[in-house]
Amino acid sequence: MKLKNSEIKKKLHEEGYKFTKQREAIFDVMVDNLDKHLSCDDIFDCLKDNYPEIGIATVYRTIQLFEKIGLVHKVDFDDGFSRYEISTETDGHNHHHLICVKCGKVMEVKLDLLETLEEEIEKTGQFSILDHNVKFYGHCSECKE
Ligand SMILES: [Zn+2]
Ligand SMILES: [Zn+2]
Ligand SMILES: [Zn+2]
Repeated sequence: MKLKNSEIKKKLHEEGYKFTKQREAIFDVMVDNLDKHLSCDDIFDCLKDNYPEIGIATVYRTIQLFEKIGLVHKVDFDDGFSRYEISTETDGHNHHHLICVKCGKVMEVKLDLLETLEEEIEKTGQFSILDHNVKFYGHCSECKE
């Protein structure tokens, strides 16, 4: 999935915001690091060589704006940072996360077998599920020994 700039532009315009060079630069960093779950500090680090005029406050504000209009959403890996990833269109979530408790690496699993579990839970008639959020903790292949 690669979001084109025209789509971001359209989304910003629909919501009444301008498509600026800075917003484009910040979004580009996120697109280039799709599976990395960057924090605002990470984004700032990626930008500072090519865009020294973009300050950390601008990064924070821009990411908040992106979150508000649904371009990105926050992911929380219990490491004290708010991290963000680009939202893909479809309903809500598209993958789950594997977190290495030793080195902190985060991987993604596309497999989603939880619909069955959701159905079972809903069968009891006591709860109607909107979404789920799953994190698996363990050791990555490098930390396994
Ligand atoms: Zn590891
Ligand atoms: Zn992810
Ligand atoms: Zn799922």
